[in-house]
Amino acid sequence: MLSLTTPSSSLSLPLKNPNDHFSTPLEVQQLHAQCLKQSLPFPPRLLPQAASICSVSLCPSVFSYSFSLVEHYSTNPTFVYNSVLRSLPPRSSISLFLRLHDVGLEFDQFTFCFVLKSVSESKELMLGRTMHGLVEKLGFKFDVYISNALLQLYATNGRLDLARQLFDKMVVRDVVSYNTIIAPLSKVGKLETARQLFDEMPHKSVRSWTAIIAGYVQCKNPKEAIKLYLKMEKRPNMNPNEVTIVALLAACADLGFLDLGKRIHQYAIIHKYDKNVRICNTLIDMYTKCGCVEIARKVFDEMPDESRTIVSWSAMICGHAMHGQGEKTLHLFHKMINQGFKPNGVTFVGLLHACSHMGLVAIGREYFSIMKNVYKIVPTVEHYGCMVDLLSRAGLLYEAFEFIKKMPIEPNIVVWGALLGGAKLHKNIEIGEEAIKRLVKLDPQNDGYYVTLSNIYAESGFWDDVARIRQLMKNEGVKKTRGWSRISINGIVHEFLAGDDKHPEINEIHEKWEKLVREMKSKGYVPDLSVVVLDLEEREKERVLYTHSEKLAVVYGIISTEPGTIIRVMKNLRVCDDCHVAMKLISDISGREIIVKDRNRFHCFKDGVCSCRDYW
Ligand code: ZN
Ligand code: ZN
Repeated sequence: MLSLTTPSSSLSLPLKNPNDHFSTPLEVQQLHAQCLKQSLPFPPRLLPQAASICSVSLCPSVFSYSFSLVEHYSTNPTFVYNSVLRSLPPRSSISLFLRLHDVGLEFDQFTFCFVLKSVSESKELMLGRTMHGLVEKLGFKFDVYISNALLQLYATNGRLDLARQLFDKMVVRDVVSYNTIIAPLSKVGKLETARQLFDEMPHKSVRSWTAIIAGYVQCKNPKEAIKLYLKMEKRPNMNPNEVTIVALLAACADLGFLDLGKRIHQYAIIHKYDKNVRICNTLIDMYTKCGCVEIARKVFDEMPDESRTIVSWSAMICGHAMHGQGEKTLHLFHKMINQGFKPNGVTFVGLLHACSHMGLVAIGREYFSIMKNVYKIVPTVEHYGCMVDLLSRAGLLYEAFEFIKKMPIEPNIVVWGALLGGAKLHKNIEIGEEAIKRLVKLDPQNDGYYVTLSNIYAESGFWDDVARIRQLMKNEGVKKTRGWSRISINGIVHEFLAGDDKHPEINEIHEKWEKLVREMKSKGYVPDLSVVVLDLEEREKERVLYTHSEKLAVVYGIISTEPGTIIRVMKNLRVCDDCHVAMKLISDISGREIIVKDRNRFHCFKDGVCSCRDYW
């Protein structure tokens, strides 16, 4: 029941305390009756509350009563109802609006803004279109706020076509209008249009920059995203928000831009974003992909216990797995289960990876079955790829082949690639040929498979077959994908192409390489010329081999950093056998840890051994 207290004024009417609420229309009527009895007006400040409680009543007479109450006692009924429309949940707000329309209340721009927001949230597109008509009829079509609300309505309900039509007709557009259309365009991948609009914006806000940057990251163009960010940074008062930070970290992860990633991390700390769970999860992913699994683990460990989500756990589990840290992967998984988390598909990708890496065939099989039968997770092609890898590595090549044949989904290049890897390791020509047959169909322009098969033949001394492969490559017109490797020194990214001589310090690089190769040879290094499938003289082959992009990048890293600094290189293709041997020796000779991310995995070379245990 209402507590009707007497305020300090001289009024004798018991008035509602401003903090009290009417809980039924009856209470409104009671107060109204008291007012009438004492010949006092209904207190105007209570009108919105009264209108609100009566407007949700199903009884039409209650609404009519409250409407006349408002009309009688308020100097501005539209204002009263606007505040009610704004405060009600979407559905109630819409039905009140329709009732108000029926009784002929005069609407203003705010009425439409509030109710269009409700229409948008409740996904009433048809109603929205009718209201659009009403807006035009009532002469509000040039109002930028209403137009923005309509844009929002169309955009969030998947009608970008209607949004665009309206946008083009708008006479006045503000930054909100642009943002409202640019963000969904970027989200659905219509980046060209989004970029065009972005470029023509007279004033851009952080939201505008963020929308377009996130769009590029999503469409797998992280380079453009970073380029835009570097422009944004130069503008005054453009402080990245949570969404910008997440997008930028994802771009850094894709490109392996550790220095920029660290800078964004620093920014997040200064602006107190570092406890934000989405940002922490992206940081874990970024550091992992940039080869710094230890820093990723630090971010993970420093997250408050209660803030970690399954995404955080899975990211860290995959991080350890990707870096060949099998024990840590399994340990973290058990910790996660003990804390009551339910693993998801990503968690199992990490786990299976780890089992495969450690040769734990039985445990891997068990996890695969637990995933399906206990957690009811439908295996994706990634899980199948891990299983094939597990079996192939362990030498169970025929079982792996049968496993692929029984897969309920189409095997992809990762699956067949895993089988090929096993065939290569265990020198099984038959299985190798089976894998290649499929791989060249799925990925005809990739020369890597031919090279691998040719290596398998060469190792077994089947020179005729080596020649046949070379001929096949010529016939099929397989072009060699040019390898590139990137290394970032003091925040500047240096990109080396295979055989590159464009780098300004190329002479110093060659000089250092010559020194290194002499030491390597004294330790037993013999250049593996079988890696070069081109028809060339031996010496020429050696030159090609010595200028593989990862060799250039690593040597450049050694001459341009302090002794002991970790060298991190990203490569677009698989590391070849010769580079792999060379990196192991270089890590030993130079006392450096060398981390190379190739197309599929990380190789961490340290003291003459690689974390992949020579299987990749
Ligand atoms: Zn190589
Ligand atoms: Zn390796």
